[in-house]
Amino acid sequence: MSNILAIVGRPNVGKSTLFNRLIERRDAIVDAVSGVTRDRNYGKSHWNGIEFSVIDTGGYVMGSEDIFEEEICRQVALAIDEASVVLFLVDVVEGVTEMDIEVATLLRKSKKKVVLAVNKVDTGKRLHEAAEFYQLGLGDYFPISSINGSGTGELLDDVVTAFIKTEGEEEQPDLPRFSVVGRPNVGKSSLINALLGEERHIVTPIAGTTRDSIYTEYNKFGLRFMLVDTAGLRKKGKVYEDLEFYSVMRSVRAIENTDVCILMIDATLGFEAQDMNIFRLAERNNKGIVLCVNKWDLVEGKDANLHKTLTEGIKKQLAPFNDVPIIFISATNKQRIHKTLETAFEVYKNRSKRIPTHTLNEVLLPIIEELPPPVYKDKKVRIKYITQLPTAYPQFAFFCNLPQYVKEPYMRFIENRLRENFDFTGVPIKIYFRPK
Ligand code: GDP
Ligand code: GDP
Repeated sequence: MSNILAIVGRPNVGKSTLFNRLIERRDAIVDAVSGVTRDRNYGKSHWNGIEFSVIDTGGYVMGSEDIFEEEICRQVALAIDEASVVLFLVDVVEGVTEMDIEVATLLRKSKKKVVLAVNKVDTGKRLHEAAEFYQLGLGDYFPISSINGSGTGELLDDVVTAFIKTEGEEEQPDLPRFSVVGRPNVGKSSLINALLGEERHIVTPIAGTTRDSIYTEYNKFGLRFMLVDTAGLRKKGKVYEDLEFYSVMRSVRAIENTDVCILMIDATLGFEAQDMNIFRLAERNNKGIVLCVNKWDLVEGKDANLHKTLTEGIKKQLAPFNDVPIIFISATNKQRIHKTLETAFEVYKNRSKRIPTHTLNEVLLPIIEELPPPVYKDKKVRIKYITQLPTAYPQFAFFCNLPQYVKEPYMRFIENRLRENFDFTGVPIKIYFRPK
């Protein structure tokens, strides 16, 4: 169902270097100091036409040396639970360590696909030394160099055999799929219980054969949809609740299997860095988003202006993609719960919206005529026509003579005009300039 690759291993073996290579962000800063929390721990990658998410677990290891061991083992256990492929990275320079042996023992017991990669094999001599990792009992390994990229192609060839082919397209299910995402304790289970809780007769839990595919059908008040991964949410693993890594793993999986994410935050805490991480994750996956500010009952001094001030504050943080509905709710008081669902439906409709080519051209070409892309290297960019691509989420192709000369600010301008003229609230849109 979801294509998730988790990279596990000791600090300093090169996890984040490999991560950056896989998600093609080679310019990212790699910190040689072990244990530094990095804010960019997940991204999208593709290989042989297969898209997948990559999670660098290393970014979540915090604190002093002595808590590393316990934390790494917990992460490995989580990665086994939540990812579809676990990539165990070791370091040929350091050789086999106690920690490696411990991790290998955990991995040998798992039923998930495990891939062993020996990193820092930059030279022929090191290729020879890598053989000592056979003693981990994980079978064949891939000698790689995350720094120069050698061996990573063969590694990926093997990794993607466990994934589902997507070709950039997602399957189109019959019913809209919604999920409630957010960090621990914001009130996700409370909302789901408010929706599904007491009235069990209206819901049909459709549990797949694996833990990967748990949907619950909701059919009430004329609204019919699937809630993603609700069972997992309701009986959450208390042990892991505190871990940011845990909530990210859960979110990644829920987001991948969904059309619209109801991203919940806690009104008493505001919009924080971890909320932003989950928001960007949904955005990067081109999912619809409804931002839901929960525990509104706890907020004091509510007046007409507070809504407005808070909404504006959050939108400022979300920029540039801030055309997102924001709803203030109370899950425990069941306040505006129905409104949340209705909004999720609107976003769903926006995400599947198709604008006919003639309408697009009628509306946008005059705007472009009035304000064309800036002249670049003495050349004028001429946009001939525009069409929406037949994909699961909104993508637009602008055909023109010199697509390479159209820069980011102009794309932003075009996106804003698109949003002004056609309602795409809550939906990330992609714009491409193509040669004609
Ligand atoms: P992490 O803690 O596992 O995420 O490790 P990092 O990606 O931060 O890398 C730790 C150190 O190993 C950095 O100084 C990297 O430059 C270095 N490193 C990573 N990959 C390679 C490699 O393939 N060859 C060599 N020689 N050094 C590497
Ligand atoms: P989850 O970890 O996101 O699933 O959060 P829970 O649903 O378990 O809620 C965490 C805590 O917040 C619980 O003690 C809930 O009773 C409380 N809570 C959830 N929603 C609300 C709300 O709308 N108002 C108030 N006052 N408390 C809430």
